[in-house]
This record gives sequence, C-alpha cells and structure tokens, in this order.
Amino acid sequence: MKDVVVIGAGLTGCLLALSLAKKNYRVSIYERREDVRYLKNIHGRSINLAISQRGLKGLEQVGLKEKAIALSVPVLGRMMHDLQARVTQHAYGRNTKEHNYSISRNALNCLLLDELTSLDNVSIYFKKNIIDYDLNHLYFASGEKIKVATVFATDGVNSAIRTSLEKKGLMQFQRTPYQHGYKEILLDSCHGASLSLEYLHIWPRDDFMLMALANNDESFTCTLFLANEQLATLDTSGAINKFFDDNFSDFSPLVPDLTTQFLTNPHGQLLTIKGGPWHYQDKVLLLGDAAHAMVPFLGQGMNCGFEDVSVFNELLNQYGDDWELLFDVFYQRRKENADAITKMAEDNYHEMSCDVASPNFLLKKSIEHELMRRYPDGYVSKYVLVSYTNEPYAFALKQGERQAKLLDKLADGINTVEELDWQRVDDLLREYTSR
Ligand SMILES: Cc1cc2nc3c(=O)[nH]c(=O)nc-3n(C[C@H](O)[C@H](O)[C@H](O)COP(=O)(O)OP(=O)(O)OC[C@H]3O[C@@H](n4cnc5c(N)ncnc54)[C@H](O)[C@@H]3O)c2cc1C
Repeated sequence: MKDVVVIGAGLTGCLLALSLAKKNYRVSIYERREDVRYLKNIHGRSINLAISQRGLKGLEQVGLKEKAIALSVPVLGRMMHDLQARVTQHAYGRNTKEHNYSISRNALNCLLLDELTSLDNVSIYFKKNIIDYDLNHLYFASGEKIKVATVFATDGVNSAIRTSLEKKGLMQFQRTPYQHGYKEILLDSCHGASLSLEYLHIWPRDDFMLMALANNDESFTCTLFLANEQLATLDTSGAINKFFDDNFSDFSPLVPDLTTQFLTNPHGQLLTIKGGPWHYQDKVLLLGDAAHAMVPFLGQGMNCGFEDVSVFNELLNQYGDDWELLFDVFYQRRKENADAITKMAEDNYHEMSCDVASPNFLLKKSIEHELMRRYPDGYVSKYVLVSYTNEPYAFALKQGERQAKLLDKLADGINTVEELDWQRVDDLLREYTSR
C-alpha cells in the first residue's frame, strides 16, 4: 500500500481521503480542530449548505449519495419576499426532479468521518495544527515535525500549506475580501412554520439581502449579507431591531431572540482565493477552498470541491499515480472551471440581492422556463448547467453570457410570456444554437 497524507478533515479532505482509501492507499489525515462528531456548539457558522449534482456525484463515487440525501431537505426553487411581505417564486430546474438539497454541513462532515473511521487503512489525527510545510516535512503548532512524501492540501480558505508554498515563491494567489460580510440567525421550527421548507427564501433589498434555508428538523438557517461597515454598526439591540423592522418586517417577529443571536453570532467574512499553480512537482496538490475559495452566492463552493475529487478520481483511473503528471493534468483541467464558477458566484450576488425583485427579471425567468420546456435539446439555462449537470463550469459561463443577451432581446417590449412571438423566438434560437 502506498502512503498519502491529506491535510484538513473538512468536506473536501474527507471525500478525497475516502476515495483514496477505497483505491487502497494508506491515508493519514491531519486536522486542526477536534473531531466535529463530538463538538457540542456549532451554531453561528454556516450550518447548512445547498448540495446539487456535482456534490452528489462526488458522494455517489464513495457510496454515500443516498445516505446524504436522507439527511437533507429538498429545495425546489426560490421564494422572494418584498418590502410589503408579498411573495413571488420560481423553480430552479426544468422539472421537479431538478432541485437542490439543503444539508447540515456538520451532519455531512460526520457522515464522511464515520465512513473514514470504519476503514482500516485510514488514520485521522485531530488537534494537529499545521503551521509550515517545506515539501518534505509538516511542522505543527505543538513543535512536532513529521516527514511526508505526497501531500493533498484540503485545509480550506486560509490554507497553511498554500501560504508556506507562496512564501517559497512556488505559487502565487490573490486573496480578495468581499465587501459584504454575513451573520447567521437560527429560526426554530415552531417560529419558522409560516415559511415553506421547500424553498430558499430571499428578502432582496438591492445592496443587501436576507436568506433562509431549511434544515431537516424544520428549523431554518437564515443569513444576512450586508456591507461589512454597515454590519459592524449593528451592535446594539436598538440598531438591530430598527434595521430588521425597517427592512424585514415580516421576518423579525419570527425570531424572538433576534438581538441575542445577532450580538452573539460571529460576523462572517467572505473571501475569494484565486491563483496558481495548485501543485508542485509530485509533492503537493491543493484542492477545494485551499485552491479556489469563492463567495457563496451560487451555492457551489463545496460542490466545486467535491467535483475536484470526482475529476481527480477519473484522472487517477486514467493516468495512474504518476503524481507529477496527474497533478499537472488536474490543474489544467480544473483551473479554467474554478475561475468560471468563481466569476459566476460573484455575478450572482446582484441577481439574488436585487434582480430577483424586478418584474423584468421574473419575466426573463418565465421565458427561460418556457424555452427549456419547448426546446429541451436547444436551451438549458446557466443555472441548470451549473447545478444539475456535470458540464464544465466554463461552458456554463459562456452559455450564460449568450443566454443573457438572448433573454434581453426576447423580453424587450413585452410583459408576459404569452406575448412572445414564437416565430421570432425560433429564429433567434436558431442563431443562438448555431454559434
Ligand atoms: C456562508 C456560506 C455559505 C455557503 N453555502 C454553500 C452552499 O450552499 N453550497 C456549497 O456548495 N458551498 C457553500 N459554501 C462554501 C463551502 O462551505 C466551502 O466551499 C466548503 O466548506 C469547502 O470545503 P473544504 O473542505 O475545501 O474547506 P473547509 O470546509 O474549510 O475545510 C478545511 C479543513 O481544514 C482544516 N484546517 C484548516 N487549517 C488547518 C491547518 N493549519 N492544519 C490542519 N487542518 C487545518 C479545517 O479545520 C477544516 O476542517 C458556503 C460558504 C459560506 C461561508
């Protein structure tokens, strides 16, 4: 058995370790935190995540897809709440089978860890904080040092491995803080009963928004995204109550302990990490957020990390473990796609916080659904490509740019889908598909 080392027992690291272990590698995992399966208090930090096709495919490869689905809640579309508490909605997919699942980050991590600890060829070392890496050794905060051959770095957005390699001039990354931060609020099941579990709820308010995503105990994890400076000013009960009453009057009565939660929960920061290369010789490969952290507005960070693992597996089957070659092919294959989803995730902030409230946007969404119904082979929306197919993200980005122009033309001068001139649609669509 060959030895490999995985840094970080988060979502990507656990999935990667599982797939390597199932291919008969002897895997050692080093994780900074204690075992999350025994942690009592995890509130206030992204409790749930939307998982879609790419994430499910990764789980399927290690036989955990159905178990993960059993822990989750189906999310069929978005429901928008305006200032007057009126509600509009649209479905995500082409049919009811195409939808996201909301899953607890912690439950998913525990599922992966349980599976890992059932395997004889996996050792997980918790409370091992790596502070440096010199290509041959890992250095821990405890002063310990160990010799390593091949390292898979899945140690997240603030990757210590990436930082060590950057300091040696072997990689170059930009770290771009997002202007908006976030704060999480838990809406318990009895107060959340008025919200439909099967929708992602959005309160879009132009430059900021509130979102609510159901958990499988029928509670909701709600997240306020707001400019960092403004979020910092919400530091008294008075300021918090006024802000919520002014902007989310139908929401604040649902959370009796709103101010307590708001003042206790951390102010989350969002970051984009972009750069390369993600590997060095046959020594080290970065995957997941360590290689490409993105803002969460398309719900694809973990999905993209899981797709990294699926692609890595496919390449390992194809090339065998000539790590230097494999790492390079992997990087060539993934970099363009990671850049594409990072861009689409950033662009989607405006769609979620602002566009979804506009009648023109909702008209374009209705047109798009009708196009997908009438031309199932000719038109697949960017959202469907990203969320419910395994088409490369770079392809989805390109299609999305062309679709935006097409939809602008189709929506021009009309107010309802019924007003569409289908002969003109046929012509424009022929033009769209012929390029
Ligand atoms: C508010 C929010 C909402 C999100 N929603 C979604 C969503 O709906 N869908 C989706 O797909 N994605 C979503 N994401 C993104 C998703 O959370 C990340 O992309 C995903 O967790 C990345 O997984 P990872 O394993 O690469 O990194 P992480 O989950 O960060 O795991 C890294 C692991 O490495 C460990 N580690 C770190 N440093 C060290 C060290 N020095 N030594 C040893 N171990 C270390 C950490 O303790 C951790 O266990 C969201 C993110 C945020 C912030």
